[in-house]
Amino acid sequence: MAADLVLLSPMAGWAAVLDEVPDPVFAERMLGDGLAIEPTEGVLWAPCDATVISVHAARHAVTLRAAGGVEILIHIGLETVALGGEGFEVHVADGQAVTAGQRLIGFDLDLLARRAKSLTSPMVITDLAGHTMDLRQAGRLVAAGEPVIELTWGETAAQDIAPVAGPTVERRLVIPMIHGLHARPAARVAELAKSFPAEISLATVGRRANAKSPVGLMTLGLRHGDAVLLSATGEQAQAAVAAVAALIEGGMGEGAPIAVAPESPETSASALASPAQLRGVMAAPGLAVGKAVRLFRAEVPVIEAGAGAAHEEAALSAALAQVRARIAVMAGEGDKARRSILGAHAAFLEDPELTGQARRRIGEGKSAGFAWKAAIGDYVEALRGLRDPRMAERVDDLVDLERRVLQVLAGEEDRALDLPSGSILLAVELLPSQLMALDASRLAGICTAKGGPTSHVAILAAAMGVPCLVAAGPAVAAIRDGTCLILDAEAGSLQVAPAAAALEAAQTALAARHQRRAAARAMAREDCRMADGTRIDVFANLGSLGDAQGALAAGAEGCGLLRTEFLFLERETAPDEDEQAAQYRAIAEALEGRPLIVRLLDVGGDKSAAYLPIAAEENPALGVRGVRVLLRRPQLLRTQLRAILRGAPGAKIMAPMVASLAELKAVRAALDEARRDVAFEGRVDLGVMIETPAAAMIADQLASEADFLSVGTNDLTQYTLAMDRGNPELAAEVDALHPAVLRLIAAAANGGRKHALWTGVCGGLAGDVAAAPILIGLGVTELSMPGAAIAEVKSMIRTLSPGACRKLAAEALAQDSPQAVRALSNTFLTGGA
Ligand code: PEP
Ligand code: MG
Repeated sequence: MAADLVLLSPMAGWAAVLDEVPDPVFAERMLGDGLAIEPTEGVLWAPCDATVISVHAARHAVTLRAAGGVEILIHIGLETVALGGEGFEVHVADGQAVTAGQRLIGFDLDLLARRAKSLTSPMVITDLAGHTMDLRQAGRLVAAGEPVIELTWGETAAQDIAPVAGPTVERRLVIPMIHGLHARPAARVAELAKSFPAEISLATVGRRANAKSPVGLMTLGLRHGDAVLLSATGEQAQAAVAAVAALIEGGMGEGAPIAVAPESPETSASALASPAQLRGVMAAPGLAVGKAVRLFRAEVPVIEAGAGAAHEEAALSAALAQVRARIAVMAGEGDKARRSILGAHAAFLEDPELTGQARRRIGEGKSAGFAWKAAIGDYVEALRGLRDPRMAERVDDLVDLERRVLQVLAGEEDRALDLPSGSILLAVELLPSQLMALDASRLAGICTAKGGPTSHVAILAAAMGVPCLVAAGPAVAAIRDGTCLILDAEAGSLQVAPAAAALEAAQTALAARHQRRAAARAMAREDCRMADGTRIDVFANLGSLGDAQGALAAGAEGCGLLRTEFLFLERETAPDEDEQAAQYRAIAEALEGRPLIVRLLDVGGDKSAAYLPIAAEENPALGVRGVRVLLRRPQLLRTQLRAILRGAPGAKIMAPMVASLAELKAVRAALDEARRDVAFEGRVDLGVMIETPAAAMIADQLASEADFLSVGTNDLTQYTLAMDRGNPELAAEVDALHPAVLRLIAAAANGGRKHALWTGVCGGLAGDVAAAPILIGLGVTELSMPGAAIAEVKSMIRTLSPGACRKLAAEALAQDSPQAVRALSNTFLTGGA
C-alpha cells in the first residue's frame, strides 16, 4: 500500500531507533514515536511539506504540522535548551509554510559536540492518532532528504467529543523551570495529565493548550517566571490540578528562584488579578495614578487559498492604497515624532520587495491576506535574525502594517477605545498606530507586557508626555479593567490595587510634580545659577536644525552637543563641504550667538553609512567607530573641520570615542591643517568626549592637550559595565549612576581641573534630576541634555549649594549600587540641599 506521507531525513547522519536515545523522554516515547539521527552536518531540513507550528525560543527544537494533521517535533541534540539559542540560526518563522527539503535551522556542530549532552536528534510524530508508521531506516548512515519514515492514514475514528461535564478547578502557577516548559518537562506534564480522566489545560496570555499534548504545551512558549492558569474539568479535576501543579511547582529538577512572583500562587482567584507590584523598564518618564484600561487585540483571521490572482491582486492594491491614504491623513495632523514614524510606515508600504513578495504568493494561488502576512513574516524574521535589539524593535512597525492591511481586507476596524480620563493603558504589545489613535489628554500612563525602551511606541509616548513602562511581563494581561494603578516609570514599577496610604502618597507627589513643573517652565529661560550664584551652563543636545528652535524655547543656554550624524546618515554620498557649512551656519544662527559645540562625525558601532563601509566586525561597539573612523579617512575629517570653521566660526569642536592622547593629537593636527586651508585666524577650542574608561583614566593627560572635556555617559556606562546600551533586556541595569561610572566621571573632572579646564556632561545622565547635584559636586560645570529636561533640571539646580553637592558626591562615590546612589540623591533632594 502506498504511503500517505513520507518523511525525509531532516539531517545527514546516523539513523537510530528511539530506544537508543539516552533520554527517557524520547526513549520511552513520551513525546511520540519516530527515530533519531546523530548528525554529521549542521543543518536541519524540513522532512516534508508542512507549516511551522513553532520554533522554540532557544532555537533548538521545531514543531511542524504536515498533511493529515500529523505533528512532528524535531529536537536538535539533547539538553540543548540550556544553550539558550547559542550556536543555532533559525531560517523560518512560526506559522510559515515550508516545503520538503527547505532549510529550517542551521547549527554549530562543533559547539554542540562540546556543550550538549548528546548530538542525538530525535524526530518524533507526537500523536499518531490511528495512523501507522513504518520506520525505513535505522542503524545506518543516511543522507539528508532520504526517505526514513512512511505514514499511512488509519481509519479516522470520528470520536464523539462530548463536552466534559463537572466542576472546573483552577490554579495559578508560575513556571519555575530555568529553561521554561521545554520538551522534557512538557512531556512529563503531558504524561501525568494523561493519567487523569479530566480535561486539563494550561493557559497564558491569549493562548491555551491541552495539558495532555506535549507539543501543545511547548507551543505556549512558557519561560521561567511566566504566570499560567492550570485548569481541569470533569472527573478527578481536583486531584489532577493538585498533581500537575505539584509537578510543575516542584521544578522537575530545573527549578530556579523567581524574581517577581505573583503575590500568592496558592490563592487561585487573586494571584494574577492583584499582583501587588510589577517591575518593568522605563520607556517614557513620569508618574501616573489612574484606572486600568485593557487593550488586547484579537488576531485578524486569514484564509490561505485565494479566489483568483486578479481578484486578490486588486484587493491587495486597494487595501494598500487605503492604508497609505490613512497614513497620509494621520501624518498631516501629527507632530514631528508621529510624522517620522508614519513616514517609515509609508516607506514600508512602498517597498517593492515587500509588495513583490506578497504578489508572488498571490500568483501562487494564495489570498491577498495570506500573501501579505507571509511577506511581512519574512521581513520580521529577517529583522529578528539581525540579533540587534533596536532592529528587532522595528518589528512592531511591520506588525502594525500587517494588521492594518489585514483589517482593511477583512472589512474590520479597530474599535475606537473609549478612554475615561486618567486611564492607564495595558497591553501585551502596543502598536504605534493604536497609540496614535488614542486621545492623549485622557491617557495617564501606559504599561505593556512586552516591548522595549527604544521602540516607536516608546518614542511616541515620550513625545506625548505620557509615562510608559515596557517589558513588565505577562502578569499585565491579568489585571482587570478598572483596577486602580500607580505607574512610576522612573522607578520601573506598576503598583496594582495599591493600599489607600500608597495611593494618597502618589497623588500628593503627582500634584507636587505638576506644580513644580509649571513653576520650572515659567523660569526656564532665566540663566541657571546655584543658590550662591555659581553659574552652571545648561545646554541642549541637538540633532538637527529643527531641534535648535525648540531647544531655545525650552530654556537652552546653548548647545553642548550637536550630533552631526544627521547630515551623514541615510543618504548615498557624504555631504560636501558647502552643504555642511550651510547647515552649521544655520544652526549657529538659530542659536543667536549662544555657545555651540559641534561633535565630529560619530559613525561606526550602531550607526553606519553605506558610503563609509566598515569591514564586518565581530563586535562593532568595540570596533572602528568615532574618531577611529575619522583618522582612517583623513579627507572626511578635514572636510568636516573646514566646514565647521567656515560655517560656524565661533563654535567649539569635540572629538568622539577618544581612547588615547595620540588620537587627540592627530585631530589637533588635522584641525591646524584645516585652519590653514581656510585661513582661519580666530580661536577654536577642541574638546574631548570622555566616553571610554580609558579616556576617563587618562583625563589629566588629555586635558594637557585639550580645551575642554565632555563626558558622554551613554557610552561611558556601556563600556564600564560591559552592557549594551541598546539591549532592552539590560535596560534597567545600564544605569549611569553606577558608582563605577561616577568614579570615572570624578577622574575626568579631576583631570580637567589639573589643567584648569571645564568638564561637562552631554550623555543621558545630564538630564537626570537625581544625577545633577552629584555631577555638580564632582566638579562638572556644564550639563547638556534633551530640551524637555531643561526646565526641571534648571529649577532644581537653583536650590543647590556647591558645598552640599560636594558632600553628596563624596557619599555617592562610596555607595555600592546605582539604586543606593538614587536613594541617596532622592533623600538629598526631598530633604533640601
Ligand atoms: C554618549 O555616549 O553619552 C553621547 C553623548 O554620545 P551618543 O549618545 O551620541 O553616542
Ligand atoms: Mg557616544
